[in-house]
Amino acid sequence: MRRFRSFRKKLLAAFGGIGILVMIMLLLGNQIAGVSIKQFTQVISDQVEVLASANDLHLRIGRLRLVEIELPSLTDYFAVVTEIQSLKKQIEEFQAELDRFEAQQQHASSEVMRSIRSSWNLYQKDLQTVIRHATSMEMAEASRVSTYQSDSHFKNIQRLLQTVTNSMKQAVRAAYLETEAEQQQLRSSFTFVSLLGLFIGILFVLLFARSLSIRVTSLRDAAERLSQGHTSSPIHVDGDDELTNLADAFNQMQKQIQTRERALKEAHDTLEMRVESRTQELNQSNLQLQQEMEERQRVEISLKLLSQAMEQSPVGVFIADIKGRIDYVNDAFVKNTGYSSSDLTGESFLLLIQKTIPRDVARELIVNMNAGMEWHGEVEVKLEDGSLEWMSLLITPVKNAAQQITHFLAIKEDVTVRKQQEAKILYQAQFDSLTDLPNRALAMDRLSQIIATAERHESKVVLMFLDLDDFKKINDSLGHEMGDKLLMQAAARLRKAVRKNDTVARQGGDEFLVILGGLAAGADAEPVLENILKAFNRSFLVDGHDLVVTPSIGLAVYPDDGDDPSRLLRHADLAMYQAKEDGRNTFHFYNQMIHDYSLQRLELERELRHALDRDEMELYYQPLIDIKSRQLMGAEALMRWNSRAFGLVSPSQFIGLAEQTGLIVQLGEWAMQHACQQACLWQNLLPDFLLSINVSPRQFRGSFITGTIQRSLERSMFPARQLQVEVTEGLLIRNNPEVQEALTTLDRMGVRLAMDDFGTGYSSLSYLKNFPFHTLKIDRSFINDMTEDPNYRTIVSAAISMGKALGLSLVAEGVETEEQLAILTEEGCETAQGFLFGKPIPAAEFSDCWMEKDEGESDEEAIYGMADR
Ligand code: C2E
Ligand code: MG
Ligand code: MG
Repeated sequence: MRRFRSFRKKLLAAFGGIGILVMIMLLLGNQIAGVSIKQFTQVISDQVEVLASANDLHLRIGRLRLVEIELPSLTDYFAVVTEIQSLKKQIEEFQAELDRFEAQQQHASSEVMRSIRSSWNLYQKDLQTVIRHATSMEMAEASRVSTYQSDSHFKNIQRLLQTVTNSMKQAVRAAYLETEAEQQQLRSSFTFVSLLGLFIGILFVLLFARSLSIRVTSLRDAAERLSQGHTSSPIHVDGDDELTNLADAFNQMQKQIQTRERALKEAHDTLEMRVESRTQELNQSNLQLQQEMEERQRVEISLKLLSQAMEQSPVGVFIADIKGRIDYVNDAFVKNTGYSSSDLTGESFLLLIQKTIPRDVARELIVNMNAGMEWHGEVEVKLEDGSLEWMSLLITPVKNAAQQITHFLAIKEDVTVRKQQEAKILYQAQFDSLTDLPNRALAMDRLSQIIATAERHESKVVLMFLDLDDFKKINDSLGHEMGDKLLMQAAARLRKAVRKNDTVARQGGDEFLVILGGLAAGADAEPVLENILKAFNRSFLVDGHDLVVTPSIGLAVYPDDGDDPSRLLRHADLAMYQAKEDGRNTFHFYNQMIHDYSLQRLELERELRHALDRDEMELYYQPLIDIKSRQLMGAEALMRWNSRAFGLVSPSQFIGLAEQTGLIVQLGEWAMQHACQQACLWQNLLPDFLLSINVSPRQFRGSFITGTIQRSLERSMFPARQLQVEVTEGLLIRNNPEVQEALTTLDRMGVRLAMDDFGTGYSSLSYLKNFPFHTLKIDRSFINDMTEDPNYRTIVSAAISMGKALGLSLVAEGVETEEQLAILTEEGCETAQGFLFGKPIPAAEFSDCWMEKDEGESDEEAIYGMADR
């Protein structure tokens, strides 16, 4: 097999094999053709030649006969002799031919041949007879012998020859057919062998081609893969010829490509990395460059801005060199000083100022500049027109990159504006913007100055604390704007009412202070006081409204009532409260009594804080009577304070204090809980028992009140519809949505709402309409004066009809006499409350008096009886 390692040799061997096969086939074919020719030649030599001899014999005998027949007919002797000669020759030739035929003859039976020979012999004899007669010119005899004697022999010979020919023909045919059959067989074998050889050849070629094509295809696929860049799998080609070599070479090439690819990739990666790092470097440097450019632009812009700002700055700026010579001045500086830029440039700025500033300041400035430090100070500069102007200068050293001072930058501040602003700020800090009067701070400052002077001169100072009566009402009802206008007018009147040197200040809100200094005695203030009160006698006309406002004035005297401003202020304030209590529109000097009162108030407050802990609070109940039936309807719960320090304190003394301090919230909650619990017990005896309880406006802050009432009702199980909450008009003035919501919630809960002390406040119809009130309680001051003053009766009557018109229940408070009751009955008032029926009494007492009645006693008797008790 080693011989066929080369593909060329394989091909040669294949085609050589096929050639040999073809040669064999050709030789075989040739052999077969030779054999068949030989066989046919044999047949011809064996059979056909004999047949031809037979035919020849046939012909010769025929011709011989013709000459025999013709001979007797000849007359010419010479012709006869010639003829006899020809006849004899023919007889010889026939004889020779017959001998030859006999020698060749194999197929003709010896029988036939003997017959032919005997017939021939006989015929020969006849022919000799003829010849003898002819020679002797006995033609007739010759003719007779020929016609009657020889004819039968001749015919016999002819017939026998015919028989031999026929048999020979058959033998030839048989031999021919046999040979042909043999040929046919040979041809078939040859065809088969040829076909087999051809098939083997084709098969071989096909197999060869197939194996070749598989290997070539795998090579082609590999080449295709390679061309697409897939170099991973090696090519496998069977065999050990050129194709295998080609595959090996291919694999080698692929390996090399892979190696080179790897190398290339590595090189590429390295290149990529280098490119990337280079790109990053480039980007960074680009960014840096960009930042630098931006920075430069920014610097340029800021420089430009700076120079523009400096040029256009309203602040005067100049730059001086290290020796103090001015290099640059901006427009503002030029404008401010009046000098031109050329006047100033090159001049020492120290010359500008040193003549006008104190030596020590100039020294400080020079020392600072030499030390490279900032200097800030105010200097007086001589202007171009010769005038002097105060300037605030900030001189800052300008350093170069090496931190060396190259210049000085001086900024001149416009002190005038600042001073104006300072003055304004000072004014705002000391004066009230609404009234332009000194404020509390300035007033205190002035007071301390006046006190200092008074101390030196041993004179007296009077401090007045003035509060406008009921100003809050005006503010609340007419609005703050009107209130402000009123305050301005009041301030103006006050200012006019005092001497020029006296100070009128606004303490805040509707409170004013008046300071009178240099007095010999406190009483010296009275004329001024009178002036002030007189000034408020006239009404104020504000936006078409004629408003009457009176002052309540408290006075404190230095040094009698205090030797420092705050003490004097406090005492004047307390005295003002006393003036209010004195009935307003009056004044009151501070005295020991007020002092004691204020102390007592403080003490009261301290004690009140512990009242609940110490169980000092108690509820009293005052009956509410149905006027028509004179029956008890319920009671109003009224708080009492059994103080261990002050004894029984009335609500008028502690409710206000409790409201101011916020203690009312706890006290009110306590009252609500206890009253509900108590009322629930009484409800068992009087099912419709109505509990009326006062709730302070302060309790409405933060909307806790609804929760308090809800809890009290739930805990006591007292029905909400039998609880009446009494509020005063003051609660409603501010139109607070919190209050509105709380009242609506209470109404929704079923709690009755009563307007207490109606008539003492604004008595506004709108409140009654806008809020869900059920009851109107007419204040006792009206009931009290009703009998004496018909105006009051009219008011009461109007209140009753108004209440009725609004569908409200009416309660008259403070009914003390039968007369009052008669009027109220006449006016159609439904409920009455007052000493006529009963004073507020503790719960136990109320139970005894009102919840149990003696047997046999009528309701009316019981009621009046109780009142007596
Ligand atoms: P008010 O709610 O108008 O209560 C009626 C006041 O009139 C009670 O005074 C009562 O004793 C008094 N009074 C009733 N009938 C007559 C009479 O015929 N003649 C006279 N001269 N007076 C009569 P009191 O108990 O001193 O209460 C004063 C005010 O204190 C109450 O006025 C009310 O505003 C407040 N107050 C009382 N208790 C409470 C409370 O628990 N909470 C709150 N927030 N305020 C309360
Ligand atoms: Mg009341
Ligand atoms: Mg009342």
